[in-house]
Parts: sequence; structure tokens; C-alpha cells
Amino acid sequence: MNSSILHLDLDTFFVSCERLIDSRLAKRPLMVGGTGNRGVVSACSYETRKFGVRSGMAMKLAKQLCPEAVVIKGNAGTYTKYSQAVTEIIKESVPVFEKSSIDEFYADLTGMDKFFGCYKFSTELRNKIIRETGLPISFGLSSNKVTSKVATGEAKPNNQMQIDFGLEKPFLAPLSVKKIPAVGSKTYESLRSLGILKVKTIQEMPLEMMTSAFGKHGQVIWKRANGLDRPPLIPFHERKSISTERTFWNTSDMVKLRTNLTAMAENLAYSLRNGNKLAACISVKIRYADFSTYSKQAKIPYTNADHIIIPKVLELFEQLYNRRLLLRLVGVRISDLVSGNYQIDLFDDTEEMLNLYNAMDHIRTRFGEKKVMRASCMGARSIGRFYNAFNGEPPMVLAHRTQ
Ligand SMILES: [Mg+2]
Repeated sequence: MNSSILHLDLDTFFVSCERLIDSRLAKRPLMVGGTGNRGVVSACSYETRKFGVRSGMAMKLAKQLCPEAVVIKGNAGTYTKYSQAVTEIIKESVPVFEKSSIDEFYADLTGMDKFFGCYKFSTELRNKIIRETGLPISFGLSSNKVTSKVATGEAKPNNQMQIDFGLEKPFLAPLSVKKIPAVGSKTYESLRSLGILKVKTIQEMPLEMMTSAFGKHGQVIWKRANGLDRPPLIPFHERKSISTERTFWNTSDMVKLRTNLTAMAENLAYSLRNGNKLAACISVKIRYADFSTYSKQAKIPYTNADHIIIPKVLELFEQLYNRRLLLRLVGVRISDLVSGNYQIDLFDDTEEMLNLYNAMDHIRTRFGEKKVMRASCMGARSIGRFYNAFNGEPPMVLAHRTQ
């Protein structure tokens, strides 16, 4: 049976949310991002693009290119809410789906043709999302994830496209190689310098040639160019979480407890970034010397940033620890995970902050997780750290070291 994979992508998501909130912004050039001196553009409307504005660009430069644009400091909480509303509609409509980022989804419709027709079903799902949330969304439908994602890109804005089985290659052939997911700006430059501009050229090359030029990455590109790469859907589980805990020989040493909680939170945030995830829920657990156990959780806007997660963990801990008893265990759990590697904090971060996180994570990945840490975590060097919590391994449980 041929598979049918639907890719849905909300159009200029943050911009569309802002326009829902304030209809005066409709059709006006609009940029969402850090408004400070060193801020970065997180999203920009189509009206700004003809001036050369792109997301990821320094806000200062974007303002020079398009001075008439309205600039809004975004609100991650608002976007998380809209994202969850769209997720709910998809969840009640399809049996298996993947939430690949805050505004992007894949659904496996294989087998549905017999009863309903995948294209008709997809059209109705898209119309339902637009009707119920007011957000424009586009889709691509084909036999595999990669072709569907490219088709969505071709359909945009606010439109849809189906690529029939067997027509993947001719559909991809005339497109620029940079439309293939996996071709970043560096690979694009290398391909261009070899005179490879269109997907068709890659399709006509033998696999061995791409492999010898680009290694394993070349193989992926070649397969995608030929509509042959079929990565599986990663089903969305709302309750997916990562957690860590630590047992003490009964203590009430607040400095030690805070240090350990900070190290745990820092560790989990690093795992999120390393696994390309964002989280929307944090919970803290404590166990008193008499074994009574309490936990408290809080919803947060999607994030993977230490400087948001650590204070929240400490705040929850302060609220929880209210009995005059020694503690024997503290734990931190992070859940409601989605894939995505947005900027660390969408709108407060500066280029310096992004560079700092990148540099810290780079050192950890290259030289070991304990090579860099916050000064406030120095007293908790033995807190275990994950390399990648999302590679299918079960979460690490720390040994009860002090017992
Ligand atoms: Mg989008």
C-alpha cells in the first residue's frame, strides 16, 4: 500500500497570531522579535520580505531595510496557547501525528483513501483549523515526509498541494537545491560552487558521486532529491518528559538543596537543547524525612533556556518546602515536550545570549558535560548529565549516593 503523509505548516505563525489579536496589523509589514538594540527577528510578514527581511536577521538591520514595518516584541505564552489549540484539533482528527515544531505537523493518513480520500480529508482538516482558530495554514500531501514538506513550501501562503504517487521526482526536479530539507546555507554554497543548482541535477547524479563529495550527508540529500527518503513519523506524546532526582541523607541545608536543584535544571535544559526540544511544563518533587512526598507543577511558554527554567524550579521548590522537616529527596521533571530549536528565549534574547548558549553547549558536547557550569552549581558537581535524552534510552536515574 502506498503511504500518504500530510505536512501542515502554519503560515508566518507569530505574525498571524499578532494579527488575530490586533486586526489593524493585517496586511501591514510586521516583524516580531527582540526589540532591544541587539535583538533578532523571530518572524516577519510576507510584506517585509520584498525588502530583504528574513527571520534570524539582526533587528537593527531589518529596521533599516524596512523602516515602515511595525515591530512587536512577541509573547511566547500567546503562541504556545495558539499552537496547543491547533494541536487539539489535529489530535481529535487523526490517529497518528507528529508535532515537529511549534507550528508544524505531520500526519500519517495511509489507508484512509479507501474510506474517504486523503486529499479531501486534508482539505477539511485545514479548513477546520482556519475556521476554529483563525490562523492561516498550508499543507502538502504526498507519499513521504520530505516531499510533503517541500510541497507545503511551494503551496504557501495559505494554500495546499498534493503530489501524486510516482510524481515526486518530476515535482522536485525544477526546484532549487536549497528547498531540500537538509541543505543548509553551507551545503547550498558548496553545491552551487559545483554548478549544482536544481534538484534535477542531483537526481541525475549517481549516489556514489554525492557520497564522495558530501559523505553521509550527501546520501541523505540524494535520497531526498529522489523522493526516496522516508523518515518515520515520531508520534506526539504530550506526557513525554525527562526528569532527574537526588536522594540525600536527610538535610535542611538550603544552600545545598538550591545548588542541587539548579544543577538538575541546568542539566535538563541542556538535554532539551541537545535533543532539539522545547518544554512547556516544569514540576518539582520533594520527599520529607517521614517519606511523605509532594510535587508541584507549572505551565510555562515553550522554552529550553536555563535562565527561564532554573528560576521556575527554585520558585516551585520554595512554594513546596513548607514543613519544618528534613528533606531526603528532591527531583525535577520537565514535560509537554515538542521538537524545535527556536532561539533560546524568543524575544528577550540578544545575539550575545544566543552566542553564550551556543558556546557553552559546544564546549559540553566536545569536552564533556561538566566542563562548563554555572558558578551556583559548583557544589553539585556529581549531578549526572545526559548527553542526549531523546535517543530512545530510558532516563537516567541517579544512584542514592549518600546512602
Ligand atoms: Mg510555519
